[in-house]
Amino acid sequence: MVIERFAPSPTGYLHLGHAYSAMTAWRSTKTHSDKFLIRIEDLDSTRSKSQYTQAIFDDLSRLGINWNIPVVYQSERYSVYEDCLSKLIAMGLCFPCKCTRKDIKDSLEAPNAPLISEGQKLLYPGTCRNRSFDEMNKGDAVRLNFSKVIEHFGGLAHFPTLEIRELGQSHTGIHHVSPEYFQANFGDIVLARKDIGTSYHLAVVIDDAFMGITNVTRGEDIFDSTFIHRLLQELLGLPVPTWSHHGLIRDEDGKRLAKRSPSFTLRNLWDQGFTSEEIISMADKQLC
Ligand code: GLU
Repeated sequence: MVIERFAPSPTGYLHLGHAYSAMTAWRSTKTHSDKFLIRIEDLDSTRSKSQYTQAIFDDLSRLGINWNIPVVYQSERYSVYEDCLSKLIAMGLCFPCKCTRKDIKDSLEAPNAPLISEGQKLLYPGTCRNRSFDEMNKGDAVRLNFSKVIEHFGGLAHFPTLEIRELGQSHTGIHHVSPEYFQANFGDIVLARKDIGTSYHLAVVIDDAFMGITNVTRGEDIFDSTFIHRLLQELLGLPVPTWSHHGLIRDEDGKRLAKRSPSFTLRNLWDQGFTSEEIISMADKQLC
């Protein structure tokens, strides 16, 4: 049985890229027992709007896509995310962080900061790593302490083999989450943002498990996050799906479509007189 999902954030109207993503996930659910589920990623209450949520349902229906119920709303699941975060905190794998973006930038630019070579990612410098939860203030974020994660597994030599089974075209194959790669690319990631009490990464892995997702279809712009998701699945003891990251549809300038580029929204294409069939074939053809 295949269980796929489409997980849009209701912060704008769906565009051609979303249509491709939803169609691809939906098309891979072929048999009667397969499921195609929708998750509304509305954690960011300032940017998410109910009018966009309604538009998502209307647009998908108009494309001829149907889905299984219930629809999952992340805004109704804060307590579940909190429980999982508490679990990671109780395992001793987190620390409260009071750094603002500016603090992090300043400390990375400080004269005594370690030299960062060109192209290297700017990682959290570890300012709050030794703070305990007794010192936590209301507005603090919670970060994963990656050194503690290594210790939790019994040291580098015992770090588990964490496989990512990727079925999508551009990254097909098995990838491994090595501690070195994780440390160099992600470091002490934020598990709970100060404003929402959770993060995209934590919510996604918890919800994919809750919904029984067997394969995650999404754009290749999120491929990198899969390394974080795979580690969190291991730490939380969650089932591991396969992933299918697909290419992105780009605008005339080669930029990936964003909700800010209104000319590619499905609404706009329908207003211009395109039929759903034409929109679907346009999405299939423009993919690069
Ligand atoms: N909510 C994300 C988006 O709209 C998708 C997240 C995911 O598929 O994991 O781009």
